[in-house]
Amino acid sequence: MVIVGAMRITILSIAFVLALNHAARTTAREELWKAGLASVDITPTEPIWLAGYAARTHPSEGAVHPIYAKALALEDSRKNRLVIVTSDLLGFTRALSEPIARKLEQRFKLRRDQVLFTSSHTHTAPVVREYMVFAYGLTPEQEAAVERYSRMLEDRVVEVVRGALKDMAPARLSFGRGEAGFGVNRRVAGSKGYVIDVNDAGPVDHEVPVLRIEGKGGRLRGVIFSYACHNTTLTGEFYQVSGDYAGFAQVAFEKKHPGSRALFVLGCAGDTNPYPRSELKHAEAHGVELAEAVEKVLQGPMSPVSGDLRTALEYTMLSFAPPPAKEELEARLQEKDRGRQRHARRMLDMLQRDGRLPAQYPYPVHAAQFGKSLTLVALGGEVVVDYSLRLKKELSGNPLLLMAYANDVMAYIPSLRVLKEGGYEGGGSMIFYGRPGPWAEDVEELVVKKVHEVVRKLTMTNDK
Ligand SMILES: [Zn+2]
Repeated sequence: MVIVGAMRITILSIAFVLALNHAARTTAREELWKAGLASVDITPTEPIWLAGYAARTHPSEGAVHPIYAKALALEDSRKNRLVIVTSDLLGFTRALSEPIARKLEQRFKLRRDQVLFTSSHTHTAPVVREYMVFAYGLTPEQEAAVERYSRMLEDRVVEVVRGALKDMAPARLSFGRGEAGFGVNRRVAGSKGYVIDVNDAGPVDHEVPVLRIEGKGGRLRGVIFSYACHNTTLTGEFYQVSGDYAGFAQVAFEKKHPGSRALFVLGCAGDTNPYPRSELKHAEAHGVELAEAVEKVLQGPMSPVSGDLRTALEYTMLSFAPPPAKEELEARLQEKDRGRQRHARRMLDMLQRDGRLPAQYPYPVHAAQFGKSLTLVALGGEVVVDYSLRLKKELSGNPLLLMAYANDVMAYIPSLRVLKEGGYEGGGSMIFYGRPGPWAEDVEELVVKKVHEVVRKLTMTNDK
């Protein structure tokens, strides 16, 4: 009995020591991260044209709350870095993100693939450089205000990245997923094609992915969370600056966790609108619902994020469908529709200047691999929900944090289904984006192929 007892104790002790070792190893690895967070106010200081709705008639009138650019800087044990910049803006065009990236490379030695620019696509933030500027019909003074604001943004984003790098301290990362239900598909088949309305039966992605950043003693330092729904609760009649539902969600979360920072990134929200919409109280209610969904994820089990960090940013050339002929564009100048008129003028100017219209556009696919515990994929443009549903199935090996509206917002990115169906996201919006016409039919295959290529490369070089 005694011997058996002793053996049992020994076996239990070995098991205990093994468990302890395992815990120590896991903890040590998880704590090899360094993370830093910072935020900077980017609220405009003068009345300025607000982005996203062509029908607005005058510049902004004050703000509901401040809007921000924020940054999360991450570094693994081998000093591989990734900085994620988030913002309450309609989007970072490449005309904005590339000059900032160059400054970040000069000042902080951050390679281009180590910086990811994202925005919430709020429709109550200023127009920025080369984002549909021509489509609003601005006066030269108003255009000058847009450029002034864009320059201020460049400085503020450099400042916020500096702040995040300076804030770097040992951290633990974990990932989990929740859900929020206010996003609805907005493509409805009408008698004259697809229109924007409420389509309860259409595809949506209600997932709320959350990356949690903890400091010493498990102190919550911040979260990055995502949702795939347009920040368009506030419609074109609103002239006050705000972050829409995503702004309210960040405010609600930070209020509940003083000293922490909440960073929002937008998912494949191209064809999803919040519902109900058009009143400020709706934006606030959606924000609170989203913050509560994040809270619920934090209270549940989350999986540790460990391993080495690998990053890559690559481009795939997307082709446009054959453009309209010069005669057709000239005929459009006589049409009543101001949008079509302005677009035709722009195309004709391009034809005169360059002798042709662009046939392709370099489309950015950004990815980061966190060991075997998390894959981050960030796509450019206004990506529709079909990509989200497809990529989640096809990249099921690791948990996936998928975002869109990243690095450049050059157009909607329809799936083949949406492209063929037409409507605003299928090709109608290309007029406002100043593109020659819809994408060619291989758009979905080219984007998805590039995603697989980039992710495969990162996972192959990652042995941990
Ligand atoms: Zn949009």
